[in-house]
Amino acid sequence: MPSPDTHAATNGHDASTAELGFGTRAIHAGQEPDPSTGAIMTPVYLTSTYVQSAPGEHKGYEYARVSNPTRTALEANLASLEGADEGICFASGLAATDAILKRLRPGDHVVAGNDLYGGTYRIMRQVFEPFGLTFSFIDMTDLDAVEAAFTDATKLVWVETPTNPLLQVVDITAVAEQAKARGATLVVDNTFASPYLQQPLSLGADLVIHSTTKYLGGHSDVVGGAVMTSDEGWTEHLRFQIKAAGGAPGPMDCFLVLRATKTLHLRMERHCENARGIAHFLDAHPAVGHVRYPGLASHPGHAIAARQMRDFGGMVSFTLKDDSVENATKVMKATRVFALAESLGGVESLVNHPASMTHASVPREQRLAAGLTDSLIRLSVGVEDLDDLTADLDRALRSL
Ligand SMILES: *Cc1c(COP(=O)(O)O)cnc(C)c1O
Repeated sequence: MPSPDTHAATNGHDASTAELGFGTRAIHAGQEPDPSTGAIMTPVYLTSTYVQSAPGEHKGYEYARVSNPTRTALEANLASLEGADEGICFASGLAATDAILKRLRPGDHVVAGNDLYGGTYRIMRQVFEPFGLTFSFIDMTDLDAVEAAFTDATKLVWVETPTNPLLQVVDITAVAEQAKARGATLVVDNTFASPYLQQPLSLGADLVIHSTTKYLGGHSDVVGGAVMTSDEGWTEHLRFQIKAAGGAPGPMDCFLVLRATKTLHLRMERHCENARGIAHFLDAHPAVGHVRYPGLASHPGHAIAARQMRDFGGMVSFTLKDDSVENATKVMKATRVFALAESLGGVESLVNHPASMTHASVPREQRLAAGLTDSLIRLSVGVEDLDDLTADLDRALRSL
């Protein structure tokens, strides 16, 4: 059984070391054959407590809200993939966001992007603003706007890149320098890229957050979150939040994510290949208005994405030439392979209408100002056969 302080940097398991390739670490980091049986997969430790031989004498585990061996294995695995000393897992991406923001105090200020995941915007405005935190939501592709948004009270900078759903690309290295100059912590939500495509800690970020519900889980069968960091103060704060506030993930959920990270590199390669094919297909389609994909040379963030990402990801957004909710609805009802659903990052292709689904909580004026128009359709491109995906979209677009 791994001990609770078993993490990528300290568990003495060769497969966790940074010299090994990403695929090898994805499969092995944090995991050793079970010492009692030889089981190659980390068991699902369905237990709430751990027997002590005398009061306070135990094997490193006391109560399962605080720690669980299946979770420990996942935390070490994710830490290795992001190049962090520590990984701290949560019950959802938003539980992780909640735990990060709780390190701030009334009066503290956060600089955040204006094209964030809708739930991140909601927790900032509706949960933390009433407790006295203040937020500036700005276009983070504009480094002058980032600079101007800092105040003396700025403690945190929150970056998402590529952004959701407009797929804008933020220069992590540049924003990290700005944050460092002001003594602010830089958090990067790496959910859209996954650690295979982008490693924000190596570009200067202090914390990386993931919704493991998406590419890390990869099979649309689990909800989870994680934060990776090499900062001891943040690690202590986040572990305390798990213990004190209880946003811990269950062992079965940890097992599902641990199982999925073993194929992350393979899945991401196919997600990227398919998304590239679809972006080019849509770009040439007469019914399509504007295609947003960082891999297209016409994308304003293409050069930055090429520098900070291994490849351009599996998400593609586009508008219709005839921009209306009605037309977007028609297209989304006509697809057969692409399923109409929220979420992203699974092996199956999904189609989504941000204005009425994921971003319904963002006021329309603010949506339009950010470029999130009525017909904007977001695709989470899966790992099916590309020809079937393009044929499906072609048929749906012909329904207009
Ligand atoms: C889904 C998502 C979240 C929230 O994660 P949950 O696991 O749904 O709580 C945060 N950020 C991004 C970019 C997401 O896509």
